Amino acid sequence: MISDKMVQHLNAQLNAEFYSGYLYLQMAAYFDEKNLAGFAHWMKIQAKEEFSHGMKIYSYINDRGGKVLLEAVEKPRSDYASVQEIFEQTLSHEQKVTKSIDDLVELAIEERDHATRQYLDWFVKEQVEEEATAAEVLGKVKMAKDAPSLLMLDHALSQRES
Ligand code: MG
Repeated sequence: MISDKMVQHLNAQLNAEFYSGYLYLQMAAYFDEKNLAGFAHWMKIQAKEEFSHGMKIYSYINDRGGKVLLEAVEKPRSDYASVQEIFEQTLSHEQKVTKSIDDLVELAIEERDHATRQYLDWFVKEQVEEEATAAEVLGKVKMAKDAPSLLMLDHALSQRES
């Protein structure tokens, strides 16, 4: 039996994943506005991925007989100063998400909820990927010191498939 406390925390994580999707979609809109279609494409895929993370948790809560409770999704920030700032925010946001997944794992261990602990392994691995990807793009953005390099990077990011 899954505890009410665990369900409550999983619902909070579901909300956080949807917020991530919202945040990345807002960032995509910034790029679209600046005619950086490749960056926008990359962020839209990122946003979709976050919504799918939320749905994964939705299914899990259901499978365990918990009640899915959707809360209001916080409005993301929309005033970005540069491409670099966006990827700095992306990386620090993912680091925050990693921390909240780690907290969920801690709770699962504390409650001896082995099913949830094992279920969360997928998210633990996913966060390694998320941080690595964000750090990689940020590194490349920092390298691109002029418009032609940024446009080359924009083209490279337009190739993202999943
Ligand atoms: Mg996520």
